[in-house]
Amino acid sequence: MAHDPHTPQFEDHTRAIAQGRPLTYTPEQLHAVHQIVAEGGNPLTDMHDLPRWEDEVGIDRIINRRVMELDPLPTPAQVLTELPLDARARHLVASSRDEIRACLYGQDDRLLVLVGPCSVHDPAAALDYARRLEHVRRELENELLIVMRVYFEKPRSTVGWKGLINDPDIDGSHNIQKGLLLARKTLLDVLGAGLAAATEFLEPTSPQYISDAVSWGAIGARNTESQVHRQLASGLSMPIGFKNATDGSVKAAVNGCFAAAQQHTFFGIDHMGRACAVETIGNPDCHVVLRGSSSGPNYDADSVAQAMEAVRAQMPADSAAAHGLIIDCSHGNSGKDDVRQAHVVREIAERVAQGEPGITGIMMESFLEGGNQPAAPLNQLVYGKSITDKCLSWPVTEQLLHELAEAVRTRRWN
Ligand code: PEP
Ligand code: MN
Repeated sequence: MAHDPHTPQFEDHTRAIAQGRPLTYTPEQLHAVHQIVAEGGNPLTDMHDLPRWEDEVGIDRIINRRVMELDPLPTPAQVLTELPLDARARHLVASSRDEIRACLYGQDDRLLVLVGPCSVHDPAAALDYARRLEHVRRELENELLIVMRVYFEKPRSTVGWKGLINDPDIDGSHNIQKGLLLARKTLLDVLGAGLAAATEFLEPTSPQYISDAVSWGAIGARNTESQVHRQLASGLSMPIGFKNATDGSVKAAVNGCFAAAQQHTFFGIDHMGRACAVETIGNPDCHVVLRGSSSGPNYDADSVAQAMEAVRAQMPADSAAAHGLIIDCSHGNSGKDDVRQAHVVREIAERVAQGEPGITGIMMESFLEGGNQPAAPLNQLVYGKSITDKCLSWPVTEQLLHELAEAVRTRRWN
């Protein structure tokens, strides 16, 4: 409902809009908004005294009819100032990105291994995992370039828990501000343990808050065809893997690599959170990740050869993508079954040992405990067990990493 233009409240609102200050609800108004929603009502029609700028400029009946609240977040600059990368972490990010690039272009004959939980839901368990993985990373660093999966944003086929950033308390309260800080802190802790981090980029503005701590990024199967994500990848500072689409299309991922290597101009935010036209120079370090599909796996040698043919038909001969790809042993390649995932890893190890070309790296979903459990608040969960896709247990993971390292040694002897 429009306000009387002569009231002090109206003047205050008009001034706030002119000064770019957000109009925010009082705690009482916010409580009332949530109460009405919980009762199945609509606060926009059921409450008449909400401070909405839409009312003030006469468009109250036209826009934001389904937006309950716009809750301002801290700017990326504020978050990076509060939780900065120290000199050691900066060195680790820069040097690990270089090492990953060297593997992607075939200048380093180690196998790139992206391993860790499907999602981080408990930062303490993630750090516990990181410390164990760091031990093995050092042990096998001559054969494997191990980077930990530290995934905070989960794309859902329909609905479900969207990850630590979106809902850190895993209870539907969606405290994004808390989630952002917790995610960043977790990344700093993982780097502090000595490990480089891999993540999936999902929301187009969240990378501003965390990407300085990330050494490898994924564009997931559900987004590989999305222009928004390809544009994002074109401006990211680390190598990016494009997954084949959920229906199995490898062409969608190759198109993703091609598009992301070009210059783009698109909508984004800067470090002050301001809306900006972002101009990028293109990312030459993109490559394909084979993750299987709803119609079955695509990790077999024929699928790898066909995928590489499709890549080489479109990408320059000296590109990272044309050198090789990454095989994700989970997801569609294992039917999301951790026992099958271990079989897939062992088959890849055998083929690597035999010198099969085109396999730059491997992805595994692994946590402290094997399998998974339904999502719930932390105090109701088994420690160290996935609440998204099924994971390999730590003992199995450790064994498989040793087998992969042995495969790389065998490849070198032949
Ligand atoms: C994942 O890596 O957990 C994931 C969601 O992968 P994909 O996009 O292949 O489904
Ligand atoms: Mn997963």
